[in-house]
Amino acid sequence: MHPAHFTAEPSSTDPVERDLPVSDVSPARSEPHADRAPGRYDVIIAGCGPTGAMLAAELRLHDVRVLVLEKETEPVSAVRIVGLHIRSLELMAMRGLLERILPHGRRRPASAYFAAIAKPAPPGLDSRYAYLLGIPQPVIERLLEEHATELGAQVRRGCAVTGLAQDDEGVTVELADGEQLRSRYLVGCDGGRSTVRKLLGVGFPGEPARTESLMGEMEVAVPPEEIAAKLGEIRETHQRFWLRPAGAEVYSVLVPAAGVSDRAAPPTLEDFKRQLRAIAGTDFGVHSPRWLSRFGDATRLADHYRVGRVLLAGDAAHIHPPIGGQGLNLGVQDAVNLGWKLAARIRGWAPQALLDTYQAERRPVAAEVLDNTRAQTELLSTEPGAQALRRLLTELMDFDEVNLHLLKKITAIGIRYDFGAGPDLLGRRLPDIAVKQGHLYDLLHRGRGLLLDRTERLTVGGWSDRVDHLADTTAELDVPCVLLRPDGHVAWVGDDQQDLDEHLSRWFGEPVH
Ligand SMILES: Cc1cc2nc3c(=O)[nH]c(=O)nc-3n(C[C@H](O)[C@H](O)[C@H](O)COP(=O)(O)OP(=O)(O)OC[C@H]3O[C@@H](n4cnc5c(N)ncnc54)[C@H](O)[C@@H]3O)c2cc1C
Repeated sequence: MHPAHFTAEPSSTDPVERDLPVSDVSPARSEPHADRAPGRYDVIIAGCGPTGAMLAAELRLHDVRVLVLEKETEPVSAVRIVGLHIRSLELMAMRGLLERILPHGRRRPASAYFAAIAKPAPPGLDSRYAYLLGIPQPVIERLLEEHATELGAQVRRGCAVTGLAQDDEGVTVELADGEQLRSRYLVGCDGGRSTVRKLLGVGFPGEPARTESLMGEMEVAVPPEEIAAKLGEIRETHQRFWLRPAGAEVYSVLVPAAGVSDRAAPPTLEDFKRQLRAIAGTDFGVHSPRWLSRFGDATRLADHYRVGRVLLAGDAAHIHPPIGGQGLNLGVQDAVNLGWKLAARIRGWAPQALLDTYQAERRPVAAEVLDNTRAQTELLSTEPGAQALRRLLTELMDFDEVNLHLLKKITAIGIRYDFGAGPDLLGRRLPDIAVKQGHLYDLLHRGRGLLLDRTERLTVGGWSDRVDHLADTTAELDVPCVLLRPDGHVAWVGDDQQDLDEHLSRWFGEPVH
């Protein structure tokens, strides 16, 4: 399999992708038997990290046959705590997952934690989920994988994707042991070093890592007071340094690495000891590591999110320093944006350009996240100019508007996709407002569109197999009606049936007559 085969321009009109015309396919059913043959999948996902697992679940909501291939035989053991921000919590609520996740995390008040400058959340945070949930990454990964498999996704571990070839009908995926599998689409959710992205030949421009950090959990041989005394002293000059209790006798350790390494292999305990001695003058007698890892501050964005029948999502499409805790959130949000669009393609009702909106909407969002992490990284520098800027920003964040602006950036609730001219609500997410049955997000668990209709005189007509209709004069809306996409973004605002029908066609394809 030769990579040059796969470097076509990403477009739904790409010659390598020839789907059936919509008129040939009933929107309510899947594509023809040839594609539904036993042993063939609609979508193969490379990588069962948070992005891959979430995408698998989203596709299963639409009865798409999904296989997830994961190269690791066991789930990861590195237990870094990640923060789920407001928009991700909203998405979990939209899929009925939040109740399952909450008991495993620690709720902290939302705050505009920008460049490690913490300020209390300003007034005006329009969300029922206005907090940060700290949760170990392996736990959220396990919960998302369980959710996907309960919905019917198949996960095969110990299967590394090593090759791919695409043609008019689908994609052939090659595994490390030479096995070949066939699917209609492939999505690379295989992380920052994505094999799928490299096989596609998609560029990943940006800045290489300037610094790296070592992170791990291990035991120490000195009393806590000694650690606390040293830590206070060191953190005056080094932000990327900590030793924190992380369970019985175990400490979480973060220390700058000696330099930037190209190795994917984890660091050794000796690497930690050397760096601790270099910075703290002692290695604190660290021993008995539970896990050791390394991460850098490289910042890169894929040139394309789609080449024909192969797509990229999550870290495979974008990487940036972990400051602000945004990477996992961004990947899960990619998955929710892509899932229903790809499913629509498989089910046969997708409007021609729908799949291309995935890149059009999500790539600019990632570009903004990359930019805010660049800005935050500069603000963490110990250079006098950066420190002065940091002091200035600290003052500015006392203004509620500045505080709110930054908080919306980090938590992804400020996103407005460009759906063309229209009221401010168009393209934004709708918060979980009260409706007559309870709350809006309870009505979005199945991943379908929703017409929220305060006029009680509109209809979703021939789209009722894809779009639900809630007639509710009491809904907490200050516009007559909204059409919501399955990802909870507002696709239309108005009160005119003909205008609504045009927008239903735009997002949900041809009606069934
Ligand atoms: C120290 C640190 C702290 C962080 N804190 C936060 C935080 O607070 N909040 C946040 O949102 N993000 C945080 N992140 C970022 C977050 O961890 C990543 O963005 C997230 O894991 C990306 O998810 P993913 O599923 O896209 O990729 P990954 O998690 O990298 O998953 C990719 C999966 O693909 C598999 N794979 C790779 N190659 C292949 C192949 N060829 N075939 C099959 N499978 C393959 C891998 O084994 C892996 O399971 C942090 C990162 C670091 C380093």
